[in-house]
Amino acid sequence: MRLLVVGSGGREHALCWAIAASPLCDALYCAPGNAGIAEVATCLPVDLDDLDAIVGLARAERIDFVVVGPEAPLVAGLVDRLEAAGIKTFGPSKAAAALEGSKAFMKDFCARHAIPTASYARFTDAAAARAHVRATGAPIVVKTDGLAAGKGVTVATTVEEAIAAIDAAMVDGAFGAAGSELVIEEFMAGEEASFFVLCDGRNIVPFGGAQDHKAVGDGDTGPNTGGMGAYSPAPIFDAAAERRVMDEIVRPTIAGMAAEGRPFKGVLFVGLMMTATGPRLVEFNVRFGDPECQVLMRRLMSDLVPALLASADGVLDGFDLRWYDETALAVVMATRGYPGKYPKDTPIAGLDRAAAIEDVIVFHAATHRDGDRILSNGGRVLAVTAMGATVAEAQRLAYAGVDAIDWPGGFCRRDIGWRAVAREG
Ligand code: ATP
Repeated sequence: MRLLVVGSGGREHALCWAIAASPLCDALYCAPGNAGIAEVATCLPVDLDDLDAIVGLARAERIDFVVVGPEAPLVAGLVDRLEAAGIKTFGPSKAAAALEGSKAFMKDFCARHAIPTASYARFTDAAAARAHVRATGAPIVVKTDGLAAGKGVTVATTVEEAIAAIDAAMVDGAFGAAGSELVIEEFMAGEEASFFVLCDGRNIVPFGGAQDHKAVGDGDTGPNTGGMGAYSPAPIFDAAAERRVMDEIVRPTIAGMAAEGRPFKGVLFVGLMMTATGPRLVEFNVRFGDPECQVLMRRLMSDLVPALLASADGVLDGFDLRWYDETALAVVMATRGYPGKYPKDTPIAGLDRAAAIEDVIVFHAATHRDGDRILSNGGRVLAVTAMGATVAEAQRLAYAGVDAIDWPGGFCRRDIGWRAVAREG
């Protein structure tokens, strides 16, 4: 069959890598893709905001099955548009993508279905939001309702910081329409973990747990990023935690969405805080995480394509997936300056040397080709991914891959996986 992956990041490179290995895949396209993806798929330039253009590409290339990577086109309704054009698609409808697209919807939904998450209040008025923060005190969490590329959340340690976040969103309009409504939440203390499930509207297949590192600096210090590294499985997310999250969060969510006329198909990313009283929900995402996808694809032994097709076709009941027992770990390499301002087009060498190390794969997140040269094209640029018998071994191999890459304009954290390595003793 002819497949199209929508997106251009490390997540989409990992998806293309797994799909290209499937015997069901006769032709693979990626829109718009990147220099790494171009090694396994035909890249088609497109603007991800232009849903008509994406549907047009899928038609023109006679695509049988589309896999949508990023949240923005999902929240904008790309799956509905493709399905209306008669093209089978992996991913949630616009109505189901509201679990990520609107935090106000997500929090009200959790309240309706008694799903354990932080207590919250919604505000469309800055004065009322400020009064709430003053009355509640800090720490407290201020979130824009709509998508803000991970930048719309402030975990405020003081009341002043929370008020500054309210003013930035509601008075200065720093997040546009996404910030016209705010959700203000109770602060939850604990370690974060994520859990992924495939859904077909009704049935649920677990797709593994992971932990990522959001902060830019070693020891989880400095500003937050889109994710500087990840590993799977995450020792903190053990079988008992998985059972609890399935019972208390995932099943009520999938049943609740179906009952509310928004059946959820696709992959649900369950962002968790492992608190003293057990796992509580931080957020839902309606797509794979990046770089969590890279480590999940590395660990997946089964063919990915039948699983994605079963989700789209509503036949996931009893679907069985096989996984490697080893740990997969990804180290993100970013352009110096990220998550602040950074240059583009810095040259990267040594990618073949890194990929020649056994069990190391270099997924590209933001690269383009200029003749023989590979150039950076964004903030997070590569995810050097390795698999090992222990977290420590996967970490050692991933950093051997990093050290084989010659990129003076790049940097990475040197401690990805430290919590899990410490747990191994
Ligand atoms: P992203 O999709 O990039 O993770 P987002 O904009 O959807 O971000 P959230 O995931 O809701 O936002 O929050 C971002 C981060 O803020 C979380 O990963 C977590 O570290 C922290 N956070 C959010 N809510 C809380 C909370 N109630 N208590 C403690 N920390 C929180």
